[in-house]
Amino acid sequence: MPHDLPKAYDPAGLEDHWAEYWVREKLFAQPTPALPDNVKDQGLDGQSFTILLPPPNVTGRLHMGHMLNQAEMDILMRWRRMSGRRALWLPGTDHAGIATQMMVERQLTAEGSSRQKLGREAFVERVWEWKRHYGGAILDQMKRLGASVDWDREYFTMDENLSVAVREAFVRLYEQNLIYRGAYIVNWCPRCQTAISDLEVFHEEQKGHLWEIKYPVIDADGKDTGEFLTVATTRPETMLGDVAVAIHPEDARYLHLHGKKLRLPLVGREIPVILDEWVSREFGTGAVKVTPAHDPNDFALGERHHLPSINIMDSEGRINAEGGAYAGLDRYAARKKVLADLEALGLLASIKDHTNNVGHCDRCKTTVEPRLSTQWFVAVNKSPNKGGPSMADLARKVVQPNADGKKAITFTPEMYEKTYLGWMENIHDWCISRQLWWGHRIPAWHCSECYKITVARVDPTACAHCGSAKITQETDVLDTWFSSGLLPVSVFGWPKITPENRADFDAFYPTSLLVTGFDILFFWVARMIMLGCWFAADVPMPDGSPRSLANSVPFREVYIHALVRDANREKMSKTKGNVVDPIEIVKQYGTDAVRFTLASMASPGTDIAFNVARTEGYRAFANKIWNAARFLFMNVDRAAEIGITVDPKTLGGMPIAAENAPLEDRWIVAELHATTAKVNASLENYRYDDAANAIYQFFWGSFCDWYLEIVKLRLDFSETADKAQTKAALSTLVSVFESSLRLLSPFMPFITEEIWHALYNGNPPAKSIALTSYPQANHILLAQLIPNGMVQVQNLVIDIRSLRKDRNIPEKERVPIVLFLSDRSNKVFQQNIGIIQHLAKITEVIPQSFEFMANRSGKRRGVAWDIDVIYEATIDVSTEQERLTKEIAKYEKGLISAERQLGNEGFLAKAPAKVVEGLKKQEAETRLLLEKARAALDALPKE
Ligand SMILES: [Zn+2]
Ligand SMILES: [Zn+2]
Repeated sequence: MPHDLPKAYDPAGLEDHWAEYWVREKLFAQPTPALPDNVKDQGLDGQSFTILLPPPNVTGRLHMGHMLNQAEMDILMRWRRMSGRRALWLPGTDHAGIATQMMVERQLTAEGSSRQKLGREAFVERVWEWKRHYGGAILDQMKRLGASVDWDREYFTMDENLSVAVREAFVRLYEQNLIYRGAYIVNWCPRCQTAISDLEVFHEEQKGHLWEIKYPVIDADGKDTGEFLTVATTRPETMLGDVAVAIHPEDARYLHLHGKKLRLPLVGREIPVILDEWVSREFGTGAVKVTPAHDPNDFALGERHHLPSINIMDSEGRINAEGGAYAGLDRYAARKKVLADLEALGLLASIKDHTNNVGHCDRCKTTVEPRLSTQWFVAVNKSPNKGGPSMADLARKVVQPNADGKKAITFTPEMYEKTYLGWMENIHDWCISRQLWWGHRIPAWHCSECYKITVARVDPTACAHCGSAKITQETDVLDTWFSSGLLPVSVFGWPKITPENRADFDAFYPTSLLVTGFDILFFWVARMIMLGCWFAADVPMPDGSPRSLANSVPFREVYIHALVRDANREKMSKTKGNVVDPIEIVKQYGTDAVRFTLASMASPGTDIAFNVARTEGYRAFANKIWNAARFLFMNVDRAAEIGITVDPKTLGGMPIAAENAPLEDRWIVAELHATTAKVNASLENYRYDDAANAIYQFFWGSFCDWYLEIVKLRLDFSETADKAQTKAALSTLVSVFESSLRLLSPFMPFITEEIWHALYNGNPPAKSIALTSYPQANHILLAQLIPNGMVQVQNLVIDIRSLRKDRNIPEKERVPIVLFLSDRSNKVFQQNIGIIQHLAKITEVIPQSFEFMANRSGKRRGVAWDIDVIYEATIDVSTEQERLTKEIAKYEKGLISAERQLGNEGFLAKAPAKVVEGLKKQEAETRLLLEKARAALDALPKE
């Protein structure tokens, strides 16, 4: 039945082959299914298992985080698919506004051009061109890694149909009075020329200064009183936009100044002294300058006290006309001049060193500038005009238990539920406009006659309010997360869900599971929940009845995967130079070994310390499987020569052992069922680690180390062989092996595919092992099957092996043993003595009495037995002398080096406690080994 596998396991070659085959044959395509008419809970005929791939940026390259995330998704997809579910994994890429625009702008700069020189239309065309050439490289990487996604359904967030969804969502929210324009203090990146969300700003401590500036107090006539109020600031240039100074209402130092006015130095503006509890008396001087247009706290303060906002900076971080004499200066040049001028006027009271938490643009690292600007917002906490709950209300509700204690969306690990709800409690309106050219342009038109806004599904030619043709489209585009937040509904055809084309939506929405990282819990997960619940709720059920909130959610479960750290549990970072490139590791060890490494450590909430040594170990595991397959094929071929074959039709299910089958057969079948039960249960709970380790133990330990060794005894192909016995042995061997391949397949899809095809010798029952059925344990059988005898046999063999080792008996040498059994009627030993002899390399078992054994000094004593080997060592004294002398020299050297290190105070002070501990342990062990070697040398007969 099987054909030859190449001698050496070469992952690169076979992985390329199968990766290409899976894509070419469209093995994982999931066409639109026809659901029975009576299905009310769409996607809930119980059959669909749907995951939306978090769309990587179109500019992206695969990193270890992707690799983990995708391995976790692929394992679940393959497992569910093989378990009979209608599995759909849907891939795509995100147009990634800021990242992609920056990439192309960088190219233009290199060419001596710029986006401004090109103009908007040509620039956008240029980005499309870039996308056609370079975009989506990450999806090619996914193809090579064998991700079992449906490539026929691949999308791009700016595809026509998805753009229609974005526009419809915007217009609908606008019509519901949930979109507005407002002046708002935003994080402004002067480099990227756009507002960025709080989540896109990273903070870094920076050494800076706290400058104290004296503001003259004036009287009712505007004359200096001679008194000053001193304020403290880290950004002195913003004083040009000051509109007040605030003090705490209980601050006795300054209370007498309340109601008085100050003259703003350098500008001359008269500004009030106001009281506000928000002011910290301990910080700086306790008097706070108020600049609403350039600080979020000041903005809030300004709103409370109805103060004006004076914007003094342009979009590139330069002082504008409001800054008077400083107009045109860059923000940092202006800072210098402001300070110099204040100093000249004697108004600079002091300069103190100060460590600042400064915000930077996540994309380009430029220091962000809080800046007042006009932006578009979604009012997430507001009722729509028809009344009812807000978007945030719904997004909270679906994560909280309902009356029956059930949650429409569950999180794993559960703690993220709290994080999510905490954030949702305090959620602010969502700023959805970005000042970019690449993205979905906001479908709003400004009228230059009546100044009103027209928002429309179809590009208008005239103002909807006054009919004027003098309208221009808004230049801002939408936040990238606005379109990706809609994906769960838009990829299945929303907003065009008609009775004729709703099959996809009915079958796959809500999706089953989202697997993603913590870092985009708010960016993306929360937005999908808000938008999904909002828009899906309008889609009636297949039978026309209204949709419940529980059926409006974008996904039923969220699994937040952990971080992949380096072997020392440090976060991977380019600056530290400890980044592991998954593609490089895959080249070295194969995809299967890397996937298995990640799986063997992946469990909810636990970060992964990626250690190449482990991957090496799993590469060896793959090798072990390969060699087991070759051994098996060799035997199948030899059996065929004498007319014994295994019918392929008996494979593909779960092997069962007859009651009277030999011990090892009953045992390995029971082990297979137990492992299968464990793997299925572990995957239900996202315990990839338990599942992977169970398979590993089974395959390497039970199957290869024990079963293969034992079954060899019954694989007799000689003339005199008992053919029925050989056939029975071969059948169990092949069917257990075939089931193991299917069990392992989701974890190591490539090697299992290769061997599985080889097993059927080019005539497999399906196009891929991934399309066969996943092993299911028979629990009733399982309870009856577990034979204890095998454990006794194993323990005896282990004892004999360890005794042989102690006696330095060469591995291949066969020796007799003497054995006392405490229970002479123990059938297990009697019946399996051949196995014990074979595995422990015994020539003969000589039964002995308890009294006889009592006198043997080197024996091993177990609960059920006493054993001893009969072996007289013949040693070549001079060789042994030489060996021991070398060994002693090695230990002495090691000991000196360890002592030197442990005596080095500098090293001890710096080294982590763990390292020192390890070194001490190593030193003690070396000392012991040295003593043993010296004693052995002494004990040698003197020549
Ligand atoms: Zn930036
Ligand atoms: Zn108008």
